[in-house]
Amino acid sequence: MKYEYMHPREQIVTIMRRVYGYGMTTTSGGNISILDTTGDVWITPGGIDKGGLTEGDIVRMRGDTVVEGTHPPSSEYPFHRAVFSRRPDIRAVLHAHPAALVAFSLVRKIPDTSIIPQARAVCGEVGYAAYAIPGSEELGRNIAAAFAKGFDTVLLENHGVAAAGSNLLEAFQRFETLDFCARTLINAGVLGTAQTLGPEQIALFNLGKNQKMPELDLKARTSGELAIRREMREFIHRAYRQRLMTSTEGTVSVRVDQDSFLISPYGIDRSYMDESDFVLIRGGKRERGLVPSRAVIMHLEIYAANPDMNAIISAQSPAVTAFTVTGTRLESATIPESYIELRDMPLIAFGRQFTDEKGLAAQISRQTPVVLLQNDAILTTGKNLTEAYDRLEVAEFSANAILNAAKLGSVQRIGEAELDAIREKFRLT
Ligand SMILES: [Zn+2]
Repeated sequence: MKYEYMHPREQIVTIMRRVYGYGMTTTSGGNISILDTTGDVWITPGGIDKGGLTEGDIVRMRGDTVVEGTHPPSSEYPFHRAVFSRRPDIRAVLHAHPAALVAFSLVRKIPDTSIIPQARAVCGEVGYAAYAIPGSEELGRNIAAAFAKGFDTVLLENHGVAAAGSNLLEAFQRFETLDFCARTLINAGVLGTAQTLGPEQIALFNLGKNQKMPELDLKARTSGELAIRREMREFIHRAYRQRLMTSTEGTVSVRVDQDSFLISPYGIDRSYMDESDFVLIRGGKRERGLVPSRAVIMHLEIYAANPDMNAIISAQSPAVTAFTVTGTRLESATIPESYIELRDMPLIAFGRQFTDEKGLAAQISRQTPVVLLQNDAILTTGKNLTEAYDRLEVAEFSANAILNAAKLGSVQRIGEAELDAIREKFRLT
């Protein structure tokens, strides 16, 4: 079912499953609320296992009174209510204790979302609420005061995080994206210093070329195109489940014929994307009424420059992103599988993916099937979607191995003579 047609009970259960399923809260911690159009608040109950939450467990509050439900509301209800009273535009609040964000709250540092343009766009700047005992009116005042300053995500000192939005999906996306930033910054600390982007660099992300593409009317769809749509849906859902993409980031495209390809849309949650959302691009025009991913021009130029390439993925997989934000080379000459699949992965300076798509495309070939885009994403290509996806997984596993190895000692490359032998045996030229 489309999210916007879900009852508040169903929305809360669906989102809590995502939060718990991803290990971003414990059985006892975390709570979610929705303010409905009558002014009543729907909220998770106190003391109920988050792993087995059902719609019947959700409590409806009117002021301090339970008007529907068999449990008491979450003990954190006072702060949810305080946030709604201070910010009329907020209709949903999510609170949890994911480990990476709790780590920031323990050292009392605010994660900087300007490391990736999309994270900055989704989360904005992050607020900070001083410690107070859980469930207290004082904690409610501290958190609500931070939201009243205009922040949509607030770090809770020695506690966790609260994210809010005009609907629950927006609040969740902010929460998940901020958690992604926190994990990235922690990993980046192993490699060096994360580089932040200035306002003029972030503005490049909002050029809106995807929205300005001319439109075209389509005739009947071929069976080949319909099969590709299904394959794309399956791989995007898999990427989300395996955390190679977040709900707000990650683009997949597949060539349909010489002149056209399908690409994932702009602005739709990756875990809800389905066949009908993908946008056909033909002769530089987009299917009427649909908006493709912001990466569309870059994908278009890569297909134009590489007639034998049939699939492209751009994604912020978590370990690789630590390399892109620190500008660290991801060394593939570490294990044979990485070298064979990924080859040499050049790091492309930030901004070229938005302003120099043709030049960037010229750097990609069968010999260079993968590039890293600084402060953004990894871009993998392949003769089919399986190959592009495998390269994304191999890159993420390799990045993870190097991050872990760096904690153990000095990372050793495979020698040049051994690389020559790999090139010869696997006919890599
Ligand atoms: Zn809490």
